[in-house]
Amino acid sequence: MARLDNRVALITGAGSGIGRASAIRMASEGAAVMCADLDEDGAQGTAATIAEHGGKAAAMKLDVSAETEVKDAIARTASELGNLNIIYNNAGVGGGFGWDRTIAVNLSGVYYGLLHGAPFLAERGGGAIINTASVAGLIGLVGVQPIELGQPLPEGAGAYVAAKHGVSGLTKQFAITFARMNVRVNAIAPGYIETPMIAIASEDETARRFLESLHPMGRLGQAEEIAAAAAFLASDDASFITGIVLPVDGGYTSR
Ligand code: NAP
Repeated sequence: MARLDNRVALITGAGSGIGRASAIRMASEGAAVMCADLDEDGAQGTAATIAEHGGKAAAMKLDVSAETEVKDAIARTASELGNLNIIYNNAGVGGGFGWDRTIAVNLSGVYYGLLHGAPFLAERGGGAIINTASVAGLIGLVGVQPIELGQPLPEGAGAYVAAKHGVSGLTKQFAITFARMNVRVNAIAPGYIETPMIAIASEDETARRFLESLHPMGRLGQAEEIAAAAAFLASDDASFITGIVLPVDGGYTSR
């Protein structure tokens, strides 16, 4: 019996990077997965990959910054796949999108998933929610170049850090609120992970070396390494774990 047999998961941002790897990983452990993404083609691609490997998956377009869409996605997953046990609030945007969009997607998007997802799971006997925070949900970010007076602040970095710290806070608060309703709520704080979000790392050798140097392991992480942590937190192996923000960061936050 696989660890996630008979479980149904809704994963946002499942069309790319960490969400895609997590959908494939959870499906390989037995879960039926609703792959939701703003990029509908990406979501369908992930679902097709899962199906090719004998897993069960469906796909849908979802903008997590729209509260009603998130609420509907939760209900649709349960009706289309027969149940709902795991919600992975993972969709996000990197820096560079400005304050409003970054907060709307990275913080409000997670909030809507918790607000509508936690009671939905509780009413059905419980489940597990995972949120993708970031090392930027635990500490501030440093740039390649130090900022000097008169220079513009790096676009979006403040918004990204604020949103991800918010995700850490929401994780703890919802974990406490729903602890006795059998809904576990945890977050993962990835270091820099090689996904399209940090394309700079594959395009600019100096930037890549700098980002690698931030991790005591001396390398960037892979989406599959986050997926492994997500599958663990979703499973009964994590049955007494709730309210944590788990760094998966090659030692980044240990310095
Ligand atoms: P990614 O490869 O860019 O994947 C993110 C996916 O989310 C994309 O398919 C994107 O679609 C989708 N998305 C964006 N806005 C959305 C919205 N409003 N509603 C639904 N889906 C939306 O990036 P990733 O690295 O896997 O990022 C996943 C999560 O990890 C994010 O929360 C990110 O902040 C977090 N994270 C990443 C890193 C890293 O170094 N990569 C580190 C720490 C935390 P589009 O392509 O159409 O925008």
